[in-house]
Amino acid sequence: MSRTSLSPTHEGITLGFDKHDDEVRGESFSLARQLTVQLHDLGLSVALDASLGTVNALLAAMAARCERSAPPADIEMTTDSQGDLIYRCKHKSPHTWKV
Ligand SMILES: [Zn+2]
Repeated sequence: MSRTSLSPTHEGITLGFDKHDDEVRGESFSLARQLTVQLHDLGLSVALDASLGTVNALLAAMAARCERSAPPADIEMTTDSQGDLIYRCKHKSPHTWKV
């Protein structure tokens, strides 16, 4: 399994990939991420909840981890207190990123 960064603006987040299905997972994740961002913009909260569940299942399947502190922690997509979409890790003092 190799690890790759989610994107340059999400420094510290890495994804674990089995070579075999990294393309499929990567594509599914980008589609789910796009859909979630659009649902968020539309303010469809019920659909957004369902979509966040899908994104988080994919993040788990892709072994997304925050490596800003040791040991690495899981990453999830959620909304912050302003209602904006963020990535947040499960470290004791969570790191957050804009989606
Ligand atoms: Zn972290």
